[in-house]
Amino acid sequence: MGEVLVYVDHVDGAVRKPTLELLTLARRIGEPVAVHLGPGADTAQATLAGHGAVKVLTADLPEFAEYLVAPKVDALEQAVAAVSPVAVLVPSSAEGKEIAARLAVRLGSGIITDAVDLESGDEGPVATQSVFAAAFTTKSRVTKGVPVITVKPNSAAPEAAPAAGTVEQLAVTVGEKSTGTKVVSRTPRESTGRPELTEAAIVVSGGRGVNGAENFKVIEDLADSLGAAVGASRAAVDAGWYPHSNQVGQTGKSVSPQLYIASGISGAIQHRAGMQTSKTIVAINKDPEAPIFELVDYGVVGDLFEVVPQLTDEVKAR
Ligand code: FAD
Repeated sequence: MGEVLVYVDHVDGAVRKPTLELLTLARRIGEPVAVHLGPGADTAQATLAGHGAVKVLTADLPEFAEYLVAPKVDALEQAVAAVSPVAVLVPSSAEGKEIAARLAVRLGSGIITDAVDLESGDEGPVATQSVFAAAFTTKSRVTKGVPVITVKPNSAAPEAAPAAGTVEQLAVTVGEKSTGTKVVSRTPRESTGRPELTEAAIVVSGGRGVNGAENFKVIEDLADSLGAAVGASRAAVDAGWYPHSNQVGQTGKSVSPQLYIASGISGAIQHRAGMQTSKTIVAINKDPEAPIFELVDYGVVGDLFEVVPQLTDEVKAR
């Protein structure tokens, strides 16, 4: 089996869950080699090795922080030249997709984005995608160059698999063209103290039925009692009740938690596209005919302003 490059998404060496999912999927198609760019490789090493990385290639150049993604693409391109991998896997984040697209152009390779599963095939890795608002599932493989594949968060459960994880320095030369756009400032979003939407084990979402920004407190209270992230339908986001960064669905984020609780959401196909792979789905809706009830594991027909606070109290009492 050949080696598979896995781009590490991390914050100062704290490896994010989607990378552990990539390492798990990478083991199906080859031997994972993690590419850790920026500070904190020593911190990250144990986690990466614990999830099957046979090697950790690392480089920490000031250019990675000073410029947009292009210097990281230089580093990945040079990692590909050094390793000749069977594929490069990148998390389907906004940054990850830009890196992957630029890398594919540089390599003259085909790219598959937003894969939800990966398997090995006779002629190279085969990626599964969920397309047309999850109405179809397709399987495809790259026929040209080193396959570059981005994978959606929560596509696989991270599995521990001890490996050597030997740290090696990657020699990186940043190209002149890669320093064309300088980062002027970074403003971290104010933390809500809640887990990241795409990585959360539980998501509690509200829709038009919540009927106002101030009423989202009901949804947030339930989320906080469960240690969950808060999601919103597009109707709630378009009404200005909740930020777009919390939108779940075709034009929002795709989530696949252990438990998804939808309150006051009808279940339009575009919303389903972002949540229907959740392991257990619960809906609270006052309309017994609401389409969301077609896909739930548990449904409560009732007014969310009565049901959700009772649920919160019950969870808090345990
Ligand atoms: P509605 O469909 O209006 O449903 C509200 C529900 O709340 C109803 O079922 C009602 O019975 C229930 N309700 C009302 N009051 C209460 C109460 N007190 N207690 C309990 N239940 C109550 N949508 C997304 O969500 N995400 C996307 O990413 C997305 N992308 C889109 C992309 C495109 C190209 C298009 C065309 C649409 C997209 N949409 C998306 C919009 C989608 O089609 C729906 O319009 C939207 O999902 C509806 O949101 P909703 O379920 O909150 O509202």
